Amino acid sequence: MRRILSNARIVDGTGQVYSDRFIVIEDRSIADIRPMSDFPAIPDGEVVDIAGRTVMPGLIDCHVHLSIDGDADPIGQVVGDAAAMSAMRMARNAAKTLAAGVTTVRDLGAKDHVDISFRQAIDEGVAAASPRLILSGRPVTMTGGHCWQFGRQVDGADDARRAAREQIRAGADCVKLMATGGILTQGNEIGAPQLEEAEMRAAIEEADKAGKLTAVHAHGASGIKNGVRAGVHSVEHAYFLDDEGIDLMLKRDIWLVPTAAAVDLVVKNGIESGIPTDVVEKAEQAIESQRATCRMALQSGVRIAMGTDAGTPYNRHGDNAQELVALVSLGMSPMDALSATTIRGAELLGLSDRLGTVEAGKTADILVVDGDPLEDISILCAPERMDMVFQDGEIVARLGEIVTSAP
Ligand SMILES: [Zn+2]
Repeated sequence: MRRILSNARIVDGTGQVYSDRFIVIEDRSIADIRPMSDFPAIPDGEVVDIAGRTVMPGLIDCHVHLSIDGDADPIGQVVGDAAAMSAMRMARNAAKTLAAGVTTVRDLGAKDHVDISFRQAIDEGVAAASPRLILSGRPVTMTGGHCWQFGRQVDGADDARRAAREQIRAGADCVKLMATGGILTQGNEIGAPQLEEAEMRAAIEEADKAGKLTAVHAHGASGIKNGVRAGVHSVEHAYFLDDEGIDLMLKRDIWLVPTAAAVDLVVKNGIESGIPTDVVEKAEQAIESQRATCRMALQSGVRIAMGTDAGTPYNRHGDNAQELVALVSLGMSPMDALSATTIRGAELLGLSDRLGTVEAGKTADILVVDGDPLEDISILCAPERMDMVFQDGEIVARLGEIVTSAP
């Protein structure tokens, strides 16, 4: 199949903008990009005129929980769900996410390896319509630590090492470690250190040996530094990050995934919406610090990739682009927000050789958006503006609805 998108304006993901181009999509890849002045008299392929629209790379969300719906009490949902139910939710939420233009996600924790079973279902054609999946299996946490209800609870470095090996054996691409308490786990102090540096180091050594990614959930300043010193690839949330932590992250070239909208959504919806009181109180306690530290991190030059933590309260799958709006409101330029959600995400996930930009030779995971997201980033949140979503060279969604069961 050869398709030609004509009259394209391209925001290519590397910070460049081009007008009046045509893009040739052949099989799974972007075969060619040229100025309209070179447009052939007799085009070889189906021509789609996309004047007035912007072509950009498919979005990459580096932090989701597809098996959790984003209702008021996510932990309650996970505890109440049988694994089969969790997997069904995952299939539905994956489709919603893809329809919204998110063509790749990293899922950072599910129960009973349902994430890995879901990918197997896709690979075998049992399920379809999903972003590309980078999976972490069960999060590794201390006994009673954040998300212990579905995590693999460990005590001591040897146990943490074993837990990492178990996730890798099950098929995980990433090992998720809980360095501090969290907002959602009742009874947890949000910023308190949890897994020790030595425990995380042991798990990270195993992941490194196997060529897998590592991510730490961390809020408190000391827990963040424990994770960074242990050698993790990315720090998630970091709501109480301090200067020393930023320096350490810069020195070691470690990624930050700020998940800025997640805390807003808890505070905005509040106790009236059914979110447990303890969860709302912790979010209220964190929100000012989150805004200040996120601004600080943006100015510091720490490498930032976009992640939503979709699945947390009222943080719905398919609303992923609201995180870009949050990042822009905290001082990130729309161009940087797009890069954080495309090429930066691809770099963090080790996929930048084929994903994250609109360039000849790359995999055709691209979006055709009605309007200019650089002028108004919020158009990415509107299904009616998401004209076409291509994944692997095929149109998989139009106007916010899945149209095909491929790839
Ligand atoms: Zn999370």
